Amino acid sequence: MERPAPTNSSTQGGKGGRGRSGGKGAGVGGGRGGYPRAVEGLIEAFSSLPGIGRRSAERLALHVLKSPVDEAMVLANAIGQVKTSVVHCSICYGLADGDPCEICVDDRRDRGQVLVVEQPRDMIALEATGMYRGLYHVLMGRISPLEGIGPDDVTIQGLLDRVGEPEKNAGGERVREVILGLNPTVEGDGTAMYLAERLKGLGNQGGEGVGVSRLARGLPTGWQLEYANKAVLADALEGRRSMGGMDDV
Ligand SMILES: [Zn+2]
Repeated sequence: MERPAPTNSSTQGGKGGRGRSGGKGAGVGGGRGGYPRAVEGLIEAFSSLPGIGRRSAERLALHVLKSPVDEAMVLANAIGQVKTSVVHCSICYGLADGDPCEICVDDRRDRGQVLVVEQPRDMIALEATGMYRGLYHVLMGRISPLEGIGPDDVTIQGLLDRVGEPEKNAGGERVREVILGLNPTVEGDGTAMYLAERLKGLGNQGGEGVGVSRLARGLPTGWQLEYANKAVLADALEGRRSMGGMDDV
């Protein structure tokens, strides 16, 4: 009780800083303990983030400690903001500032086309190409029996609803085509097959079925054939495209 509790004291931070720049004493990698409790708490919080180990967490925490208060508060507020103001669009489940999201609200987009992806970041990557003018549907995962993730644990029902009942799609428009943009993994493929099957059953209600396609796969641009593995080469062969003289291969 008598000892100073230097949780946020700047003098403590200053001393620590000098100690480090002097290159002696408790180094950053010098092991656990020794930090004031609040700093230790921040280190632990950072190290719970994906891809951040103990040492990086220490570096980040000490950086925050050194930063001016307003700069550190920008980080703290940004974390608060992201948890309070970002929502999932109720139509496509993409991340958005409002519901529905900007993409679903945009009536210049082709609302008859829905591209299904696993994660919001896939949608962001596809948007960045500027090549796609339809809508999305974010599954928020994929079916993975090994991890106990079933169809009800992702947003498959939302997709089936959009396709089956046009009023649940953006603008009340009928979905003509579902493009499966899942990752080319065992689980992604399994999920795609499951979706194709479920969508087939749905499409005939209005007399016209829904088309189901999937993104092309095979050799990445800039790749060299000799380094591609068997699965990639098999995909590339299967997905080959005519360059003239043949209608369909
Ligand atoms: Zn949306």
